[in-house]
Amino acid sequence: MDLPDSLPEFRPGHVWLVGAGPGEPGLLSLLALHALRHADAVVYDALVDERILALARADSERHYAGKRGGRPSAKQPDISERLIALAYAGKRVLRLKGGDPFVFGRGAEEALALATAGIPFRVVPGITAGVGGLAYAGIPATARGANVAVAFITGYDSTGEVPEEVDWGKLAGAIPVLVFYMALAHLDEIARRLIAAGRAASEPAAVISRAATARQKVVEAPLAAIAAAAKRAQVEPPAMLVVGEVVRLRHHLDWFRPDTK
Ligand code: SAH
Repeated sequence: MDLPDSLPEFRPGHVWLVGAGPGEPGLLSLLALHALRHADAVVYDALVDERILALARADSERHYAGKRGGRPSAKQPDISERLIALAYAGKRVLRLKGGDPFVFGRGAEEALALATAGIPFRVVPGITAGVGGLAYAGIPATARGANVAVAFITGYDSTGEVPEEVDWGKLAGAIPVLVFYMALAHLDEIARRLIAAGRAASEPAAVISRAATARQKVVEAPLAAIAAAAKRAQVEPPAMLVVGEVVRLRHHLDWFRPDTK
């Protein structure tokens, strides 16, 4: 496929922080594909689909920088240092992340490390799971009449617990649609806190696992029952929890068939 000539040149010694979207390679941006075709080194996370990595220049170096299948995870400072070292070595460095690099992807930390080191970089946004993954589950992030706001929340913080800095009362009272990333470990606790903060136990909720991939699975249940339903269905990560009236639209809008092209 020919890409537009207007795309910026990927210069040696530069780092591009690129979002790969939630899974399906067709959701890559043209800039992301351009970066894959020109990168000398690709530093990628566990969430990046193999079909996307297969689009990288055949002779590019691959550096794995994430957790998968019990392999030890790379430490954040090590990843930033590796990006800096590769850039100093004069490579075109593609830092490829799932979804969007600046949404719960620690892209901000890496960009700050590059900025501090004086390495030129570009950010290529990707389709974040909380938008694109919902769309593949037939759930609009907003719908007229259903919600005027949506929040993205992390299901756990750096200690591995449900984040303490969330004001559950305000969140539950003000935001009609809540999308929790990294939610699987604490579904029970999150649902309990939302109900304690005033959300109806009967409110529609869904857990979306491996969205926009051949193994997508969506489990729906009222908020009070969503944790048990996800457990019964043996939902696997990565997964998000969506709470709100928009989940009901899935009954009309569930269009994605993972097993067909
Ligand atoms: N930067 C990413 C998020 C990284 S945090 C983005 O913008 O999408 C990792 C969390 O993202 C996972 O725990 C899960 O909650 C969510 N996630 C990422 N890809 C997903 C997918 N294909 N299906 C469901 N959830 C996904």
